[in-house]
Amino acid sequence: MTTSTPTNWAGNVTFRARQVHTPSSVEELQHLVASAENIRALGTGHSFNLVADTEGDLVRLHGLPPRIDIDRRASTVTVAAGLRYAQVAQRLHEQGFALANMASLPQISIAGAVATGTHGSGEGLRGLASAVAGLRLVGAGGRLTELRREDPQGQLPGAVIGLGALGIVTDVTLDIEPAYEVAQWVYDGLSLDRLSAGFDEISGAGYSVSVFTDWHADAAQVWLKTRTDQPGAGHPGDSWLGARPADGPRHPIPTMPGTWCTVQSGIPGPWHERLPHFRPDFTPSSGAELQSELLLPRAAAREAFAALRELGDRIRPCLQISEVRTVAADDLWLSPAYRQDSVALHFTWTEDTAAVLPVLGAVENRLVPLGARPHWGKLTTIAPQDVIGRYERAPDFERLMALHDPAGVFRNAFVNGLFPRQA
Ligand SMILES: Cc1cc2nc3c(=O)[nH]c(=O)nc-3n(C[C@H](O)[C@H](O)[C@H](O)COP(=O)(O)OP(=O)(O)OC[C@H]3O[C@@H](n4cnc5c(N)ncnc54)[C@H](O)[C@@H]3O)c2cc1C
Repeated sequence: MTTSTPTNWAGNVTFRARQVHTPSSVEELQHLVASAENIRALGTGHSFNLVADTEGDLVRLHGLPPRIDIDRRASTVTVAAGLRYAQVAQRLHEQGFALANMASLPQISIAGAVATGTHGSGEGLRGLASAVAGLRLVGAGGRLTELRREDPQGQLPGAVIGLGALGIVTDVTLDIEPAYEVAQWVYDGLSLDRLSAGFDEISGAGYSVSVFTDWHADAAQVWLKTRTDQPGAGHPGDSWLGARPADGPRHPIPTMPGTWCTVQSGIPGPWHERLPHFRPDFTPSSGAELQSELLLPRAAAREAFAALRELGDRIRPCLQISEVRTVAADDLWLSPAYRQDSVALHFTWTEDTAAVLPVLGAVENRLVPLGARPHWGKLTTIAPQDVIGRYERAPDFERLMALHDPAGVFRNAFVNGLFPRQA
């Protein structure tokens, strides 16, 4: 089946694809790939840049059988790549299992999230792609390829955050663990001085911790998610570093209703109903916002906070909210947290691209010298060559692309900007 050309979730990108296909079987997908000059997968379209775009054909995978196969012995689940985290999490929980972490929004597709290095927060928690134990993809010529963590060739750490450039991923195998409960508290009124001086204490105060601020008002909000089965569960008290527990449900954006968010006030609940900030049933189908995010070495956090406070006057008019998270180091070649415990500085901007880009440029000018790498699925003003120059394994990824896709069937302008075609 072929449908008309879609836009992304935010509406700031209209895909240029000639056609959009929704195959109903892997065999059909293999035929599509075999006959295509240029083809890419589109997940749920939640990226804010041209990473998914193509002038060739786009494929959406929601027509494939929605497999969710749990392997209890291996502690893994193999899922259809186009499924959303919310769908997989619900089934896992029903069967007594869990993922280690989730992003703020549970509605994103597994394959798209993984391909762009999507992460949640947590000092000891790596990005979502680190949970990938295996991938099955339809590669060049329509061939099916399986990559597993234990393969001696060691390609999986290169392929997982693959920007869609190695083929169309049909199945993803994820690590799972026994289900657990999480309690979530929100604290209001943390001063930015306290955030800076106490960042280690704050980010270490829960299993997953996020801080929201606009870098202008001297106030931040802390979202603390603790596992009830781990030591230190509970909240740090009625007055914590000068902040106090919120008196009702909060949304990260102060003007939005807290009822759209996962349950707070310390009421324990299933992991998948607390780790994301947003409830799956309250997610708008399109968003009046733009997003950018930079990951920096953890040690640069205080300097980065100081730079953002200096830019607060410029940031505030086009910002909806900014979020500070932590991401543990991993070994994935194109991971912004490659071998580096990181602090992630996220910005939800207004939808006014013309107003946002110069301010984003000013933010990036200050944070790039501190070692910042942009999120693969969000906006950046950093030139592609400068972005890829920040990845020591980029040459290895380029070799992997040449191996899996010598003719460049899965390339697009975004990938070519990072890895220019050899003449
Ligand atoms: C409201 C909102 C909240 C967000 N929250 C977070 C967050 O908490 N943390 C975070 O890190 N990011 C977050 N993001 C960013 C988001 O996770 C990424 O943009 C992610 O890529 C979205 O997944 P998707 O399925 O929409 O991918 P898409 O945007 O559809 O695609 C992204 C890339 O994945 C590729 N791809 C998709 N499916 C496949 C496949 N089957 N095979 C091969 N390649 C494929 C595409 O070709 C493209 O290159 C958020 C975005 C929004 C809009």
